[in-house]
Amino acid sequence: MATQVKTQKKLHFVIIPFMAQGHLIPLIDIARLLAKRNVTITIVTTPLNAIRFNSIIDRDIESGLPIQVLRLQFPNSDAELPDGCESIDTLPSLSLLKNFMHALGLLRQPFEQLFQELKPRPNCIVSDKNVLWSVDVASKFGVPRIVFDGLSCFAGSCIHSLHVSKVHESVVSESEPFVVPGLPDRIEITRAQLSGAFNPGPHHFFKLTREKVIEAEEGAYGVVVNSFEELELEYVKECKKTTKTAGKKVWCVGPVSFCNDDDLDKAQRGNLKASNNEEEYYLKWLDSWGPRSVIYACLGSLSRLIPPQQVELGLGLEESKRPFIWVIRGGYKSEEFEKWLKKDGFEERVKGRGLLIRGWAPQVLILSHPSIGAFLTHCGWNSTLEGICAGVPLVTWPMFAEQFYNEKFIVQISKIGVGVGAQKVVHNGDEQKFGVLVKRDQITEAIDKVMDAENDGEETRKRAQKLAEAAKRAVQEGGSSYVNITLLLEDIKNLCVTP
Ligand code: UDP
Repeated sequence: MATQVKTQKKLHFVIIPFMAQGHLIPLIDIARLLAKRNVTITIVTTPLNAIRFNSIIDRDIESGLPIQVLRLQFPNSDAELPDGCESIDTLPSLSLLKNFMHALGLLRQPFEQLFQELKPRPNCIVSDKNVLWSVDVASKFGVPRIVFDGLSCFAGSCIHSLHVSKVHESVVSESEPFVVPGLPDRIEITRAQLSGAFNPGPHHFFKLTREKVIEAEEGAYGVVVNSFEELELEYVKECKKTTKTAGKKVWCVGPVSFCNDDDLDKAQRGNLKASNNEEEYYLKWLDSWGPRSVIYACLGSLSRLIPPQQVELGLGLEESKRPFIWVIRGGYKSEEFEKWLKKDGFEERVKGRGLLIRGWAPQVLILSHPSIGAFLTHCGWNSTLEGICAGVPLVTWPMFAEQFYNEKFIVQISKIGVGVGAQKVVHNGDEQKFGVLVKRDQITEAIDKVMDAENDGEETRKRAQKLAEAAKRAVQEGGSSYVNITLLLEDIKNLCVTP
């Protein structure tokens, strides 16, 4: 990478998120954190992705933060993608992922043009690992590129170990546990639980992209991680060891969701719809329950349960005999499932005690309410961290990607959760073939374990609360994540003045 000769007083970072909620949301938080540290920020994305965070950024701009959002048209028709599909969660089928990545690749040329016109000249690009061309663009323009990969250091270490050792390749059975070698803890996993590149299912695409992603990561100056050192110190060290050999740096700057400090920011984070005061209703509903009594169940922005599996989840929540919020993602055979909700009398039976949110829920706002007692999660890393910030125990139901590694971290290492007993990755598009994998009593049992003061529930809750306190300290002035942002900025400043 060519170094920059000119000294500039104020840094200017260009941020390029990947278009999927689990990637977009935390990188927008990181952009805002940097702007709060007086870095000029240019976020580059497509129009429909910009809508997801516009209101928050507009308020930031009004309050004087140096942020702008620039939009590039997404080339849907050139890539044979339906109109309106500008993010992974809006794709009608994952078979279109190839077209989506092609469209993303076509953004390189308009991005280069835009980059050349930016004033002052940017000093750094922070881009998602999936924006593969950003590494070449950064080296073409002689600016460092920092990569955001959305994983924890623990998951990153598991993936690195599997990639290097290839231990899984000599395990014959899909369901036979084996040890992930070379990690600070003894982590056992099965082949059926591995993430995309090692367990691609029908989507061999993941295997191909993994290689390209590794290549692109190697060209990065450093990695920014949504985590905090006190949470996974041994694994931060692991990550530093493995990236150091490639001459890269690692900065843990999270939990980044804390940058949404007022209720409006929390309510609108990643939000698609204009607020019509639904949030107020949710908060009032939560106010009506006692402290730490409500189960919040949400399985992220991408997971798709077949109707019979949804039914088991609903019945599990009902049989827990506790108040609950259940976020039901629309889109996948939702008509069939809606019919069941009404016809079987479920909605009527749980009326008052169960709040059903269809579509998008203001997750961080809900989790920050004192009535939330536990979070039933698919173990996406953002959701995991948001649960940790809320100080509540987790009921874990991993489904795909690196979620089984995250479950190990939650249940075995941090000991702040109990699993429902999910055994294998459900490949997207193959849900029907897998059928019902988790039964209602498994769900009720796991909820009981974290909610009952006996059976270790109290200890689990105490550990969760302790972690939440450590998370808060990490982002406060002088905390480890705060200091890591300072170090990152100093590094980039030094690069700018070194001939
Ligand atoms: N999220 C939300 N409301 C929803 C679903 C998801 O706010 O109804 C947010 C959640 O807070 C998190 C992100 O979307 O920040 C999901 O990321 P995660 O890594 O947990 O899972 P993914 O959706 O990528 O599987």
